[in-house]
Amino acid sequence: MTTVESAPPSTERWTNQWKELYEEVINTGLCTGCAGCVVSCPHEVIGYQHEEGHYKPFHLETELGHDNCVHGEKGCTSCTRACPRFRTWEQDADMHLFGKTRNDDAMYGQYRQLLLCRAADAETHDKGQDGGFVGAMLIWLLQHDYIDAALTSFLEGDGSSWKAKPGLARNREEVLASSGSRYTYSANTLALKEAQEAGLNRLALVGMSCQSSVLPVMWKRKVGKTGKPFLFNIGLLCSKTFDDAIFEELFLAKYGLRKEEMVKMNIKGVFQIWMKDGSYHEIDLKECHKWTREGCKMCPDFAAEHADISTGGIGEDNAWTLCVVRTELGEEVMNRMIADGTVVARPAETDATAMKLLRTLSIVSRRRWPEFADRSPSVGVPPPKKKADGTAPAAH
Ligand SMILES: Cc1cc2nc3c(=O)[nH]c(=O)nc-3n(C[C@H](O)[C@H](O)[C@H](O)COP(=O)(O)OP(=O)(O)OC[C@H]3O[C@@H](n4cnc5c(N)ncnc54)[C@H](O)[C@@H]3O)c2cc1C
Ligand code: SF4
Ligand code: SF4
Repeated sequence: MTTVESAPPSTERWTNQWKELYEEVINTGLCTGCAGCVVSCPHEVIGYQHEEGHYKPFHLETELGHDNCVHGEKGCTSCTRACPRFRTWEQDADMHLFGKTRNDDAMYGQYRQLLLCRAADAETHDKGQDGGFVGAMLIWLLQHDYIDAALTSFLEGDGSSWKAKPGLARNREEVLASSGSRYTYSANTLALKEAQEAGLNRLALVGMSCQSSVLPVMWKRKVGKTGKPFLFNIGLLCSKTFDDAIFEELFLAKYGLRKEEMVKMNIKGVFQIWMKDGSYHEIDLKECHKWTREGCKMCPDFAAEHADISTGGIGEDNAWTLCVVRTELGEEVMNRMIADGTVVARPAETDATAMKLLRTLSIVSRRRWPEFADRSPSVGVPPPKKKADGTAPAAH
């Protein structure tokens, strides 16, 4: 017999508003700072501080206190519909993109192809963090008239502050100016406002795992006009970001490395920093843990499991980008880019290290997901191996 309790959630009336979002996501530490709620609020009452120590939404109206919303009380529910950490977010995004939830052992999500790719164009490749695949794909999407602009991340001013900021890339020059990785947070979704003001309505989003779940969750839960302009969703594999304070409090204070002198950084088992004077420095990641951004501490998604194509740099060779091609659209564009020589590709299975790391790091992230939240992200996650003395390994 069908009872009210066993009815599928999609048929239930969705009444959740800022009050529930605040109680269940923001106040519990699940909030990643992705800004999905901010850009989807039709009343523009959710603010966001894109600054050191913040990267969290807050309510701009205090009529009902900071934890309730007048518009929510009147029936507005956009913020919870857009939130990729609210209740059954993983199942909702999976169902929307793939028509089924992931198998228990699918630690890095559902996909069609696993490839290692590099941009054929030398400049795009050189400016890229790994194989320059993301840059090559954005340029291709712009040139083939799939999109008007991409929401990506830039550095403020002349770049010497290393302060990441969301922005729009509308052409090859802007795409290349945004290439490379910064390991502090950039809520690229916030660049939607700039796109709307410029009348651009065919967009791609580039974002870390947390941001790439925003779009399918919005589409599934019918947020409406906010999700509509997004045609392409490119994910960045991600274990964590650091608070901006790491530059002053660790890199400068302990190692004398001035951010104004830094030219590139990467994370490959250690924090790697290249300086203008040609010197290269490695910093133990354990030392950096103290500056892990709050919003990353419980994040279960390493592999950007809800992007069209997710990209990472865990291969044996830094010159290639690991690409997890997930959707039909992602596959179509990937195949066309390979066929016309925009990117060079080989099967990811040729790199055993990358394959092993992809699974291991996905499991490590899933283990951070707390017990009080919806269980889906923890399904199938193997328990940590015991140490030789029989005790469980310490959590990070
Ligand atoms: C914070 C962060 C953590 C990451 N962690 C991992 C990891 O643990 N393991 C792994 O394999 N890969 C990780 N990546 C992905 C990796 O660094 C590369 O971005 C990916 O391999 C694509 O490389 P590419 O050369 O193809 O990209 P590129 O052509 O260099 O393009 C990179 C794109 O990322 C955007 N971007 C750069 N920094 C940010 C930022 N802070 N926030 C949002 N967008 C940004 C750029 O604007 C650009 O559009 C991480 C990326 C970031 C930004
Ligand atoms: S996770 Fe994103 S959408 Fe959810 S409350 Fe935080 S900023 Fe808003
Ligand atoms: S670990 Fe990466 S994907 Fe997860 S919340 Fe932090 S920035 Fe987002």
